[in-house]
Amino acid sequence: MVEVKSGYISVFKSVDMANRRIPYFCYDSKVAGPTVWVVAAVHGDEVTGTETVLRMGRYLKRGGLKRGKVFCFPMMNPLAYELITRYEPMESIDLNRCFPGHPKGSIAERIAHKIFAKIVETKPIVVIDLHTDTMESIPYIYLDQVVDQNDSWLVKEIIRYSDLSGINYFVENSATSNELRYSITAALINDAKIPALTVELGGPMLVKERFVEIGLNMIKNSLNSLGMIEGWSPWIYERRIKLDGFYETVWNKYSADYSGIVEYKVRPGDSVRKDEVLARIKNVFDKTVQIIKAQADCVAISCADQSVCFPGTELLMIAERNDNAFKFERRRPEDSS
Ligand SMILES: [Zn+2]
Repeated sequence: MVEVKSGYISVFKSVDMANRRIPYFCYDSKVAGPTVWVVAAVHGDEVTGTETVLRMGRYLKRGGLKRGKVFCFPMMNPLAYELITRYEPMESIDLNRCFPGHPKGSIAERIAHKIFAKIVETKPIVVIDLHTDTMESIPYIYLDQVVDQNDSWLVKEIIRYSDLSGINYFVENSATSNELRYSITAALINDAKIPALTVELGGPMLVKERFVEIGLNMIKNSLNSLGMIEGWSPWIYERRIKLDGFYETVWNKYSADYSGIVEYKVRPGDSVRKDEVLARIKNVFDKTVQIIKAQADCVAISCADQSVCFPGTELLMIAERNDNAFKFERRRPEDSS
């Protein structure tokens, strides 16, 4: 019989004297085994993750959980969640750039600190953090950079969990890793030495059933690989894009230089050859003002949630082949020889 416990972590008392707090659940199989956390909505508009956590809870509660414990935060940023916005509203900052947080810091840092401490004290074997990318995107895992080269075991663990989950995974671009160093997963990996996965499931605002199903099944595959449940979803493997090595995400490479209306020529999930057209920008007189071509062989991951662009608007996230995508791996002496 699976025992379900729920509770809150208190963050602060608001001006109306309301308690600001973050809800959590624990599904306990009562049989010795690993502890796993599944967390969602650190960005307040990413509701698909919350629904995925609730759906997972239903499955575990009905007898799905055979060993160990699964903790979850279905909604890590309730202040933003109520306002259907990405950022923690009191300071308009990204909670997922504030980890591991600080007990005497800003509101976001205090929230981050409480969440981080709660997770770490339970000694989880892995943490799965659910996000959404854009409406037009494939489901994927975003692999954080591991900072310390003594932690190569963590890289191996993260890749192993990602492989077992069954969905595609891409390595975070090292150029963006300074900013992303303070995400919850990067802090768990680098400060607490706990393997953690950032999972992107479709777009924000709306719960998309297809992505809930994919999220639930990738979590089930992860729990199954740890012997915690018996469910296994082979179909998820069949759907993923076949990749021939490591692919690194690339931002800021495919931005508009002109204002206009964007016509995407590729779909998320498409493999694209160098020089193939990714998008066309036309002006209001239907004149083409810019053709955007692939600068290397790549895979399209997501298109922006807007068809109107301006100079500097990022249009696509893509991933390029890079077998040395993990930053510290590049610094190994044997690699530079
Ligand atoms: Zn997010």
